Amino acid sequence: MADYLALNYCPQCGAALADQAAYGRVRRYCPACKRVVFRDPKAAAGVVVERDGQALLVRRSTKPRRGLWSIPAGFIEYDEAPAAAAVRECAEETGLRVKLTALLDVIPGEGLPGEASFLIVYLGRITGGQLQAQDDAEQAAFFDPDDLPPLAFSATHRALERWRARSR
Ligand SMILES: [Zn+2]
Repeated sequence: MADYLALNYCPQCGAALADQAAYGRVRRYCPACKRVVFRDPKAAAGVVVERDGQALLVRRSTKPRRGLWSIPAGFIEYDEAPAAAAVRECAEETGLRVKLTALLDVIPGEGLPGEASFLIVYLGRITGGQLQAQDDAEQAAFFDPDDLPPLAFSATHRALERWRARSR
């Protein structure tokens, strides 16, 4: 596992963690609490927003893959529903309010530093708001499926492929 995901200290008591075999693999273990400290996947949610046969994309202003384009997406808060996260991220990055109309796919990440472990992608349509790039998007625009800008993630490719397959 890469260093950026290192889990060195117990989140409950702060003791240094050790490796220990548990539940079928080597896991991090707190000798003070006498418990396994599970390493959880990072979940993200996003939405393919369709308008007049085009999809809404945002140009990333942050790592990873800064300057490349992705669908509006972001990490799900620990106490947030995936669909609510997708709607929130779209509003934060593009200014547009959307209604989700379908679940498009669940797509694993590439293991990049700072990237989600998996992305839950919905299909959505606009219900309000004004298109305005903001938050960690520096541009937001609609693109034809045959004229896409440089895409940020393999998950972006796959989400748009799923969308195109549905539109045919
Ligand atoms: Zn502990």
